[in-house]
Amino acid sequence: MIQIRVLMRSFFKIELRYTKAMTNTKQAIIDTVNHYKQVAQSKGYTFPHHTKILFNLKGACAGRARKDGSWMKFNLDIASENLDTFLKRTVPHEMAHILQFQQDKNSKPHGDAWKHFCRVLTGSEMPRCHSYKVSHLKRRRTVLSYTYKCSCSTYRLSSIKHNRCVRGEAYYTCLKCKCKVTKA
Ligand SMILES: [Zn+2]
Ligand SMILES: [Zn+2]
Repeated sequence: MIQIRVLMRSFFKIELRYTKAMTNTKQAIIDTVNHYKQVAQSKGYTFPHHTKILFNLKGACAGRARKDGSWMKFNLDIASENLDTFLKRTVPHEMAHILQFQQDKNSKPHGDAWKHFCRVLTGSEMPRCHSYKVSHLKRRRTVLSYTYKCSCSTYRLSSIKHNRCVRGEAYYTCLKCKCKVTKA
């Protein structure tokens, strides 16, 4: 029984590798952050230098910013499906959070201070919530899955993983035989 469980676990060991297309999405976000940093600077505000840009946000959330200004996280799946809107809305949305908390740690997350910095960065009002279609990115109990194979095993990939492969943004490799897994 124990052996079977170990076997099942090793069966699912695959590794995520992003391709050039996803690297371009990341770069576009980094460039946009730098653009808005200059906009802030030109209006007399300095965006903190130590804020890290992370890309490990999953699920239905497009972006997050930490109150102490140490990081902003972005969701690459949402970004690559809606790049224009993402760069125009989500990037300044999170940067405005960093700026508002730098000025006043206790300011309300989507209150007047945040709105002020949205206007500083974009010159206009911003919707508080994003309107991306994300139902397919939410975790569900019954996940659609697709059969993938390498030279040694068969895998079931979730629709999120499958879509990354279809869009050419990522591929998955088997940790056992080191081969790329492909759709069966
Ligand atoms: Zn927000
Ligand atoms: Zn393999």
